[in-house]
Amino acid sequence: MVTDSQRYRSTRGGEENLSFSDVVLKGLAADGGLFLPHAVPKADWQSWKDLSYTELAFEIFRLYIPESEIPSADLKEIINRSYSTFRSEDVVPLVPLALDGNINLLEIFHGPSYSFKDCALQFLGNLFEYLLAQKNVGKEGKDRYHLTVVGATSGDTGSAAIYGLRGKKDVSVTILHPKGRVSAIQEAQMTTCTEQNVHNLAVTGTFDDCQDIVKKLFGDDDTNKDVKLGAVNSINWSRILAQTVFHFWSYFSLARQSDSFTVGQPIRSVTPTGNFGNILSAYFATKMGLPAEKLIVATNENDILHRFWTTGRYEKHPAEEKDAADVCKETPSPAMDILVSSNFERLLWFLAKEHAEAAGKDSDAAAKQASQNVVEWYNSLKATGGFGPVPNDILENGRRTFESDRVSNAQTLETIKSVYEKTKYVLDPHTAVGITVSQRSVARPGNAAIPHISLSTAHPAKFADVVKEALKGEAGFDFESQVLPDELKALSSKETRVVNVENSWEAVREIVKRQTLEDLEAQAHASS
Ligand SMILES: *Cc1c(COP(=O)(O)O)cnc(C)c1O
Repeated sequence: MVTDSQRYRSTRGGEENLSFSDVVLKGLAADGGLFLPHAVPKADWQSWKDLSYTELAFEIFRLYIPESEIPSADLKEIINRSYSTFRSEDVVPLVPLALDGNINLLEIFHGPSYSFKDCALQFLGNLFEYLLAQKNVGKEGKDRYHLTVVGATSGDTGSAAIYGLRGKKDVSVTILHPKGRVSAIQEAQMTTCTEQNVHNLAVTGTFDDCQDIVKKLFGDDDTNKDVKLGAVNSINWSRILAQTVFHFWSYFSLARQSDSFTVGQPIRSVTPTGNFGNILSAYFATKMGLPAEKLIVATNENDILHRFWTTGRYEKHPAEEKDAADVCKETPSPAMDILVSSNFERLLWFLAKEHAEAAGKDSDAAAKQASQNVVEWYNSLKATGGFGPVPNDILENGRRTFESDRVSNAQTLETIKSVYEKTKYVLDPHTAVGITVSQRSVARPGNAAIPHISLSTAHPAKFADVVKEALKGEAGFDFESQVLPDELKALSSKETRVVNVENSWEAVREIVKRQTLEDLEAQAHASS
């Protein structure tokens, strides 16, 4: 039997009753909306407290993926394979920090690319391979369904996507990065993957140029006629699902590690946020039962989310800068540099639905109403760069779960320095945004005794320039010996493969078509 949490609909109302595999392979709904399950399952979550990470993942995924699509034995095998690549036995270890209050860091960066994106993309890579194998039973050569994943990256997503998809059957992956504008380590991570199905394109231009090219390819009939495009960006439902696991895991880890904390007590959870994917996973965890007193959105100077929680208006630019160009501010935490936050649409849908239910509508009517609201809001965002204020009830309802705070560039570096001086722990700049917000939170009345779980989203070695800058005056600090892992040091001596391309979407299209054909031929050759 397929339950309501195993069937999917679009936030914009154009599609419903879709299967899990459909929404994973499609990524984005045809009406431009994002996929959500028809219901969030209420779970017997307390019974999960002694499970291993992979057992916990299985319990959670099973609620959203029916047995008829992925039988339990296969699902377990996919999960075990996905998390066996992590360097920590705990997969995501929880580390108490010796700072004022009760602040614990959840290190979610121990996957192959040293970014938290691995937690979802290792799983997604294996999932794609599995779902494509199902489609391709009994098919040979050119008849096989072959997915060409194309994405743009400013660094973190690209390396995690490549590490998730390298060597996978029936998949080609092409990642565009702005030439000379990603960190040396990120570039080396991507270009040293020389598997046949991995293609790096260094585009003469900016990250925004790369994103524009990708958008044009997805909208281009000619491209779609020749290749089946797939996306792995943070709107893919399977990524949100994969990330709910570590929000539960960290809670149970805290109970195991602390005598004074037992399952059932509240935490405050702090997430350095960009596209709202990670913290949306935390929101799903709370809907399933996780007792978070608050989920705290930590933003850098690209603060559309903080401004929303403050004013109820969702606008690319604050009123006083309304004629500003549509570019992000440069910050030390580039993986959080966004103008609009794509997954926020999913939260708005829930809040609008609850608003309609509070006004007396039944669940189906409320879902329709929520989709109508979302369509209106996003039409306004497209036409005018913003919408809102949303109705006060909606904002107040959201504020029961969420809080937000914003951290300046200077403060981010200051926190890396002060935390190092107090604890000798080296924070990456994204994590430092979260820790700054955690420190402000524990300092407010009543919060000091509540455990804070603050997410550490990247290894500090990935953002070498910022970390070195923040710690340059520290006696005895040496980046190469204290921070840089041997595995990343070794990248500089490896063979690389990258194709340089001008800033032209037609040029990229021809390369993508050619590379997909070459991959198909290589795969057919290998299996014959
Ligand atoms: C992607 C990323 C974030 C932002 O996560 P969202 O899910 O987009 O909010 C934060 N930190 C790092 C290091 C990232 O790579």
